[in-house]
Amino acid sequence: MQVTTGDRVGRLIVGQPTRKTRKNGTIKAFECQCDCGSNVVVDAYNLANRHTQSCGCLQRERTSGAKRLHGASHTKPYLAWQGMLDRCYNPKNKSYPLYGGRGVSVYLPWVESYTRFIEDVGYKTDPRLSLDRIDVNGNYEPGNVRWATATEQARNRRARHDNNTGVNGVVRNKCGSFDVSIRVDGKQKTRRVRDFLDAVALRYRLEREHWGSNNP
Ligand SMILES: [Zn+2]
Repeated sequence: MQVTTGDRVGRLIVGQPTRKTRKNGTIKAFECQCDCGSNVVVDAYNLANRHTQSCGCLQRERTSGAKRLHGASHTKPYLAWQGMLDRCYNPKNKSYPLYGGRGVSVYLPWVESYTRFIEDVGYKTDPRLSLDRIDVNGNYEPGNVRWATATEQARNRRARHDNNTGVNGVVRNKCGSFDVSIRVDGKQKTRRVRDFLDAVALRYRLEREHWGSNNP
């Protein structure tokens, strides 16, 4: 992806290119104005791939916000916030296929501010609690996120009575692998998959292919 003068990238408005060019003659960097008021020169590649989205104020807010509010960045809510962002935006996270890979996103003010996230969902220290989405196909956004125990989450997700994985259409079989099935035109199609995350990803793909969405 290319950027040009006038584009917005996160908090940055892309201004004029600097005089320096790369060896191949393309633009090396742009003068940018950040929403916080700072001016900053940003490498054109880092803008194009969205690696840089502020003058640096975004990262500073995240870290200082966490310290100021709760003293430590290893508290339960902070780790939950980080985990949520990682599942949705880091393709190397092992759960990414079930979150970011399926288009699950995080409400932008929560991405930008841990403080804002806590204001909206509340600060909990009970170790049994973790973040739960009320509509499991929905995003992490106000109204769809709460703190819940593992039991409450499982109940929320419970599929059929004979389902032993908590995910519709994915059943653990006697061999320890998973049977992924979907009903199409009254006929049941089943495929066997070794890994649970692969099985869930397959089920979601089949839902989209045959039903057109993950919300039949
Ligand atoms: Zn800034």
